[in-house]
Amino acid sequence: TVRVRFAPSPTGKLHIGGARTAIYNWAFARAMGGKFILRIEDTDPERSTEENTQIILRAMRWLGLDWDEGPEVGGEFGPYHQTERFDTYAAALETLKERGAVYPCFCTKEELDAKREAAGESYAGYDRTCRNLSAEEAQARIAAGEPHVWRLKVPENHGPIEFDDAVYGHMSFPADVMDDMILVRTDGTPTYNFAVVCDDANMQITHVIRGDDHLSNTPRQILIYEALGLEAPTFAHLSMILGADGKKLSKRHGATSVEEYKAQGFLPDTMVNFLALLGWSLDGETTIISRDVLCEKFSLDRITKKDAVFDETKLEWMNGQYIKAMNPAQWVELSRPWLIEAGATAEDIDARPEWYAKLYPLLAERETSLTDAAEKLPYMFWGANVTLDEKSVNKVLKKEGARADEALRACRDILADESRAWECEGLQQACRDLCEPMEIKPKNMFQPLRVAVCGNMVSPPLFESIELMERADVLARIDATMN
Ligand code: GLU
Repeated sequence: TVRVRFAPSPTGKLHIGGARTAIYNWAFARAMGGKFILRIEDTDPERSTEENTQIILRAMRWLGLDWDEGPEVGGEFGPYHQTERFDTYAAALETLKERGAVYPCFCTKEELDAKREAAGESYAGYDRTCRNLSAEEAQARIAAGEPHVWRLKVPENHGPIEFDDAVYGHMSFPADVMDDMILVRTDGTPTYNFAVVCDDANMQITHVIRGDDHLSNTPRQILIYEALGLEAPTFAHLSMILGADGKKLSKRHGATSVEEYKAQGFLPDTMVNFLALLGWSLDGETTIISRDVLCEKFSLDRITKKDAVFDETKLEWMNGQYIKAMNPAQWVELSRPWLIEAGATAEDIDARPEWYAKLYPLLAERETSLTDAAEKLPYMFWGANVTLDEKSVNKVLKKEGARADEALRACRDILADESRAWECEGLQQACRDLCEPMEIKPKNMFQPLRVAVCGNMVSPPLFESIELMERADVLARIDATMN
């Protein structure tokens, strides 16, 4: 059965590129009825932190990428942190020693640096000095406690290293330029390539789907598989993600971590759909693809090797589509932080969720980010923190002066009439009916009311808003703004 893994190094947050890699692995596992494994590659002690691990796990959970094996869920191929797997690397090194595929190297850093410097441009990797030591000498120096690393003995006369990448197709790398790479450092820790191969082998990974920044590691890793006498998995390398300017996506382009997109009000569904399409397509045209469809239809052969371009406008559009498709209760839950920013309280949201659900249609039609609630809904929570927009007041109330007051008073009478149902259509129609006899244009009738009740000229729908407010509050707002 298919077993794939996402193997982040917790040296930073979960970035867009990493999230896409995770999504592809997850969707492929689901589509194939396989297993999705999460492995934390924390062997770099300087740059890996537990905090970053937690941030990555949280981002994965938020995206809804559930893993079948890994941190927090366990599994029979654990542990799932590389730092807890050192005995497995030691065991693999023993295997390599038995197979005569490695040798100890006693060259010091100073010696190596000097050689590199002397060779300059023509440096072609380690000169294999220690490869030629006799077994007795090597043994004696180890016994004497001399520091040493373990290097891979790249076979002489190895033909080209070839593999069929599921995305890039047939790949071939000359083996004779391959360095006798270090597998185990002086302090006994494994190097990146060695740890990855050991883990992928021990975890029985069948497909390695990862960024093409690892493409140059693949021939090296294949040499390690060969040295261990193991078969390499299938590789699928994913092209780069570029910004709109054609340059590799980076901080310069704005948000790069999943966390930042969450903070900007993007939905997890949006992110999964959008990132899935950065390099893969269902049929070349469908843009809205649900998780279910993705998990059913994802396939490696529809991944393109063309670089993908991150289109911010499309992301916003897509978020708008997902917001429109939500149900109001869901919207309230996901919008919680921004509703609170607008002036709501958590207790109030819990106490009357139905009222909050009614806010959804006020925004949903035009919302492209959940943050819109924080920006556009403060008037719903009128209080000390809400002020009238000065520009709107000047333009609509001050400049119009008496006319604005006249309109406001007329609307106030309608709204104050307790015999009327407190319902948007009827109230709006009643106000509209006053326009003709009073010779006021509808715009001049409604704008003063909008500024008085919502605080500005560009609020969400006016009467729909009024319907959700208390009559006394609405009247008080009008009274406060009359000249
Ligand atoms: N830990 C590596 C990274 O974060 C990924 C290794 C792999 O996928 O083979 O880039």
